[in-house]
Amino acid sequence: MKEVTQILTHKIFDIVHACSKELNIECYVVGGYVRDYFLQRESKDIDIVVIGNGISFAKKAAEKIGIPEKSIAIFKNYGTAMFHYQGMDVEFVGARKESYVSHSRNPIVEEGSLKDDQNRRDFTINAMAVSLSEKDYGALLDPFKGLDDLQNKIIRTPLNPDITFSDDPLRMMRAIRFSTQLNFSIETNTLASIKSQSERISIVSKERIVEEINKILLSRKPSNGLILMEVTNLLEKTLPWVSALQGVDIVNGNAHKDNFYHSLEVLDKINEHSNNLWLCWAALLHDIGKPKTKRYVDDVGWTFHQHELVGAKMIPKIFRELKLPLNEKMEYVKKLVYLHLRPIALIEDTVTDSAVRRLLFDAGDDIDDLMLLCEADVTSKNPQKVRRLLRNFEIVRLKLNEIEEKDRIRNFQPPISGELIMKTFSIQPSKEVGMIKNAIREAILDGIIPNEYQAAYQLMLSEAQKLGLTPIQ
Ligand code: ATP
Ligand code: MG
Repeated sequence: MKEVTQILTHKIFDIVHACSKELNIECYVVGGYVRDYFLQRESKDIDIVVIGNGISFAKKAAEKIGIPEKSIAIFKNYGTAMFHYQGMDVEFVGARKESYVSHSRNPIVEEGSLKDDQNRRDFTINAMAVSLSEKDYGALLDPFKGLDDLQNKIIRTPLNPDITFSDDPLRMMRAIRFSTQLNFSIETNTLASIKSQSERISIVSKERIVEEINKILLSRKPSNGLILMEVTNLLEKTLPWVSALQGVDIVNGNAHKDNFYHSLEVLDKINEHSNNLWLCWAALLHDIGKPKTKRYVDDVGWTFHQHELVGAKMIPKIFRELKLPLNEKMEYVKKLVYLHLRPIALIEDTVTDSAVRRLLFDAGDDIDDLMLLCEADVTSKNPQKVRRLLRNFEIVRLKLNEIEEKDRIRNFQPPISGELIMKTFSIQPSKEVGMIKNAIREAILDGIIPNEYQAAYQLMLSEAQKLGLTPIQ
């Protein structure tokens, strides 16, 4: 038996060891913490399996440390208890045996042995346990050779994968997520089983699926995960809009690029520069309007006219269906999808000040993220073209900085407020107030007047005059 006491440096292990001795109850640290130790990854949680009642054991450990009972989070239904101690979430659970019946999503849960508990875990690398009991403190209990799989970088289920995946189909997504995060391959039978059972993902809640997708998106090379989702048919079942980006049509010998692989390239590039989850979502979804807008036009070739507009309009529905937040994060993704062609359109024309001002006004504080997205969007195979475009983006960036410094458009606050307009002409909130405000904003964006109070005040007077309004004295 391998002994790995070096894992047990955190103070909680001494406490649990002492409780185990006093209560004469076996317990183990299990799962992610053990795996991450061997991978030299940092953990934020420690899972302790108790051969007995997890909740009362947790209370005993908390008492020993001096953690008040009210600071223990107890989940009676799951038989778990959790508290925070020295930078770690420590969770206690009684060892469980789970039996699934095909007509129900919820297993029958009974008390079990350590082995029963390891059997119900998702992957061999997640099923390793280290004893905290007196009799074999520090012993590694690794019945499925998880350590070998860690060394060989393999994701494999402890039992027959058909059973493991059928019991909880989310594990299919977890397999792909771990493979992507850790850069491991999925063992052949395990992968084949995912493919054959992908249909069953439909019984899993969107929230749990999206949690795994989010972790894939934040991995170093998210394309690996999305390609695995595609080959196992999970992509079509979980992100049908992304799946629809696949494929290449050819008319008169003209092919367009495969928008799925293009989007993955953009996403991977974004991940090299940013760990903003919502920017990753924007990268994945930036061309989502293309399948709906695809046309072949004689003498022109393939067009995706207004795909940015169609795509932006799809975002709220996609977020709703995925149970992603319908708040400013959604607005951010929608905005980036909508604006993703603007910087490139800018450099194809001459870069006028007013076009730059309008871009700053529309993008606001998200201008830097938009520029990152646009640069990542350059995936041409022609190195000369790529170089030319990226050089032009540099010019746009310089111009953005220059104009922003001069005109402060990024967080545009109108120099003349609606209240001032109403007071000056003694009018109520009305269409006229909006028209005057609009005229001022447009004149500033077009560079006709500077973004300053005096100039805006003069323009207000002349615009009001056109509307037959005179200032009260
Ligand atoms: P991470 O914390 O990076 O998400 P993790 O493996 O620690 O990864 P947790 O969700 O914290 O994942 O779960 C802790 C342990 O519980 C896992 O290592 C695994 O042993 C077990 N586990 C979690 N979810 C499942 C599941 N759906 N099916 C089987 N076992 C699971
Ligand atoms: Mg964990």
